[in-house]
Amino acid sequence: MGFDLHTHTNFSDGILSPVELVDLSIKSGLEGIAITDHDTVLGIDDAIKQSKKYFDFIVIPGIEFGSVHNNEEVHILGYFIDYKNDLLLETIKKLHESRYERAIKMIKKLVNLNIDLSIEDVLKHSSKDNIGRPHIARAMIEKGYVKNVSEAFDIYLDRGKIAYVDRYQLSVEDTIKLIHFTGGIASLAHPGLLKDKLIIEYCIRNGIDAIEAKYTMHSDDEKELYINIARKNNLLITGGSDFHGDRGVLGDSFVDLKEINDLRGRLKNV
Ligand code: AMP
Ligand code: ZN
Ligand code: FE
Ligand code: FE
Repeated sequence: MGFDLHTHTNFSDGILSPVELVDLSIKSGLEGIAITDHDTVLGIDDAIKQSKKYFDFIVIPGIEFGSVHNNEEVHILGYFIDYKNDLLLETIKKLHESRYERAIKMIKKLVNLNIDLSIEDVLKHSSKDNIGRPHIARAMIEKGYVKNVSEAFDIYLDRGKIAYVDRYQLSVEDTIKLIHFTGGIASLAHPGLLKDKLIIEYCIRNGIDAIEAKYTMHSDDEKELYINIARKNNLLITGGSDFHGDRGVLGDSFVDLKEINDLRGRLKNV
């Protein structure tokens, strides 16, 4: 049934462990997945180990960096990265520390808004020391302050909203450079979600290798548009569901073996 190249585990803001995710992928009929947790590679080993139980099931080591450009979040996926690379691990550590400090600051803002939340409440939802805003949102749901994650983002957590605080993020340029440094392929995640579409050109100018045309939240027209952009600019195509366990359907978007082989072929040329 193909390869879902965009999935999250509980090493970032997904719900399932890497082992549970691999098991569910098998049940869903997938031939392979890429683990693309936000700013971390620490769940990859568990997934690869579990995949060995299944004949021929492939786990591609990946990551989804939350980069920033002109004050907009730009998510960049890395595939086939050397996930043991020292510079990568050092960068990830810095990102995690900054996520923790940011969570403390955001909780302070929420407390000032009479929302009774502590870092312990949030850490209950983030088992792996890599705190994202969805963890804060889940703590707010648990305590009855919001109905769902979207409401928490819309009112409090989104960029520019009342409890938002910046964190250390890599630039688009540095993210692509880091992915290449680790021997990987860089793909622009969910281009359809970008507010400023000029960011696509910016990524191309900075050496992005691929674009995530096949994304669950893209309409058929968007998918076609991004496939055409890929063709014109000699980019590869990636695709995936952005499965988190509490949203997204695993395998809803996927690529075929041909696209995987194209990615592998490009590896030698990065
Ligand atoms: P962070 O890692 O703290 O930057 O949080 C980013 C993650 O939050 C995204 O990758 C999504 O999983 C989730 N997210 C971002 N915006 C929203 C939103 N408006 N509603 C629900 N989830 C969101
Ligand atoms: Zn996420
Ligand atoms: Fe994303
Ligand atoms: Fe994602």
